[in-house]
Amino acid sequence: MTIANSTAELIGNTPLVKLNHIPAEEGVNATIAVKIEYMNPGGSSKDRIAARIIDAAERSGELKPGGVIVEPTSGNTGVGLAMVAQQRGYRTIFTLPDKVSESKRAVLRAYGAEVVVTPTDAGPDDPRSYYQVAERLAKSIPGGFRPNQYDNPNGPASHYATTGPEIWEATDGKVTHFVAGIGTGGTISGTGKYLKEASDGRVVVVGSDPEGSIYSAPSLADVHQYDIEGVGEDFYPKAYDRSIPDEIVKANDAEAFEMTRRLAAEEALLVGGSSGMAVVSAIKYAKEHDLGADQLVVVLAPDSGRSYLEKIFNDDWMRANGYGDIVERTTRPSLAE
Ligand code: PMP
Repeated sequence: MTIANSTAELIGNTPLVKLNHIPAEEGVNATIAVKIEYMNPGGSSKDRIAARIIDAAERSGELKPGGVIVEPTSGNTGVGLAMVAQQRGYRTIFTLPDKVSESKRAVLRAYGAEVVVTPTDAGPDDPRSYYQVAERLAKSIPGGFRPNQYDNPNGPASHYATTGPEIWEATDGKVTHFVAGIGTGGTISGTGKYLKEASDGRVVVVGSDPEGSIYSAPSLADVHQYDIEGVGEDFYPKAYDRSIPDEIVKANDAEAFEMTRRLAAEEALLVGGSSGMAVVSAIKYAKEHDLGADQLVVVLAPDSGRSYLEKIFNDDWMRANGYGDIVERTTRPSLAE
């Protein structure tokens, strides 16, 4: 029987697909393959960390029957936690700033999560901020548990246990480079550690980072806002092991969004902005290091473009945010024109 007992059993074992057009157009000879994490049941790589964080908290006794999971998250981690928690009978409460779109709140509620909306303009030290509200709720609600994805070692451990071995096996150990965006740092730290160990240090690990984020900023004065979601930080989380990436290649919002649209239009891969960013970094690295046709670069694509239809794939939003030239470059003239 190949019927899964619950959606949690379907997490992982995501497929790899080769890019057939973009590398050639960019003058890249190496093979670039994308690991499609939107094939996870909750739609992102974050399903992996949710399952492991909940398993570990059950074992350690931090999460007991009837417990309540409280986390400040607006995105993929919330979906993963809500999905796994629901099946095991835990309540989930997510705090998120009011800038988060109604459709993202609706997804969390659909899985049965409770959503507490906080003012976006409240900084991390403000008692009304989504971090502080989550802290208070987790402490005051009996059975409250804060997964804290930025500090939780089970984030990187989940990628060490699953994502790394999957890539190694799917490529028969022929992977030469691994490229991933850095948010909490869990993906690159866990997957990169596994691939380096499996290959006796041969696999090169490349971090991809939005321009303005701390991981690639020359100094703190260069840390600034950017539009790509889910990646980059303004502090160093514990989930990130700085010794793992061999190099960090940054990409700016415009480069990432243009590539995200090209992946959909040219490779039939509807992925999110952080996936486009990682492909940009992979191409920059391959060009800079003149990678030959015998090199196999695996790029992790964390989530689906469906979560960004109102932004990256919406021409009006793109134009209103100064990306109009990208719309012109990536939109085919309709038959009528
Ligand atoms: N892309 C997206 C869309 C994400 O939600 C995340 C997780 N924050 C990442 C990339 C980065 O993954 P990680 O936190 O493991 O570094």
